[in-house]
Amino acid sequence: MIPLNEPRIAKNALKYVTDCVQTGWISSAGAYIEKFEINFAKYLGVKHAITTTSGTTALHLALASLGIGEGDEVIIPALTMMAVPFAVLYTGASCVSIDVDSEIFNISPEKIKSFIEKNCSYNPDTKQLINKYTNKHLKAIIPVHTYGHPCDMADILQVAKKYSLLVIEDAAEAHGAEYHKDISGKESNKDTISHKAGSMGDVGCFSFFANKIITTGEGGMLVTNSDGIAEKARVLKDLCHCPERRFLHTGVGFNYRMTNLQAALGLAQLEEIQDDIKIKREMAQMYNELLKDIPGITTPIEKPWAKSVYWMYAILVEPDFGISRDSFMKRLKEQGVDTRTFFIPIDKQPFFNKKICFSDGDCSVSNSLSEKGLYLPSALTITKKQINKVCSSIKKISQKL
Ligand SMILES: *Cc1c(COP(=O)(O)O)cnc(C)c1O
Repeated sequence: MIPLNEPRIAKNALKYVTDCVQTGWISSAGAYIEKFEINFAKYLGVKHAITTTSGTTALHLALASLGIGEGDEVIIPALTMMAVPFAVLYTGASCVSIDVDSEIFNISPEKIKSFIEKNCSYNPDTKQLINKYTNKHLKAIIPVHTYGHPCDMADILQVAKKYSLLVIEDAAEAHGAEYHKDISGKESNKDTISHKAGSMGDVGCFSFFANKIITTGEGGMLVTNSDGIAEKARVLKDLCHCPERRFLHTGVGFNYRMTNLQAALGLAQLEEIQDDIKIKREMAQMYNELLKDIPGITTPIEKPWAKSVYWMYAILVEPDFGISRDSFMKRLKEQGVDTRTFFIPIDKQPFFNKKICFSDGDCSVSNSLSEKGLYLPSALTITKKQINKVCSSIKKISQKL
């Protein structure tokens, strides 16, 4: 079976992890934590990077550090990984789901705008945006850079600014993805501008789960340019110990501390992130080339202003392909090719109820993508031979229809 995903372990991983084991520095107090945080911040071009135990806890920590809680609402994409709404719900806040864009599968800035204009009232003096139907206070947007393609951040940041919303980027799938537009609102040379995904909002969150672009096994990172947010996040993630007096606690904190063992692995992985991105982009190029003439298969696009890292190579199985997405996946499995469906929208989840997530009902794109989308094997360890095999299996199935 050609696996959907598989980590590629960096050259120095064993050396650094062995160092932790041999010296006994295995908890979160070791030196690799700081090295990993400093190098990650440098790589992204941000001031602060703070390790956490997962992408989910990075998101929760971000929301908590921004003071989001009961009575608040957070805008999320209707089609996304459920860690996103879960993190919002942990804080006592609730979600507003907004439909995604049909080309890049990311939250649609136009639909955020029209949602606000239709359903909310804004008071520019108090800077409060209120959902007229729930009477809750809209506080933030979580744009998710889905499958490695960055969101159109300039548009999202513009809406956020207009309505005093905070922006928490979820870059769990987009380490090293780039955005080539000016985000300050000023016109300038787009060719020379490059922002990394996760570095443009108030906070950015990353996951280092084993299938992400770089991994620590389990782990996450919160990044920010704000000294205040960084300080709050550091205190909150370590049980809110009073800096002057341990075991006096200034609030209700969490233990979201990454271990030195994980940071050692992360540091080694980060050293090779350029290679990983190159592998993913070459994989996508080869898939694009081999799949371009198959009727009923839509291959992913890359906007001229974006550099995607193709965390997953995502295709759409259109009605004119001839068989359903699910039968197609079954036939691929019979040929030894593992695939996975897209995410499932929040309102289709067994845990869903209307109290936890508001929607104005327009989620047609998310629903359709969720029914048509699948991803092909996208491991960092994938070979050219395997990509050829996947594509010839797809062609074989297509020709028999
Ligand atoms: C993987 C992922 C997460 C969660 O990260 P974990 O480390 O598994 O907790 C959150 N958001 C998105 C978009 C993800 O893909």
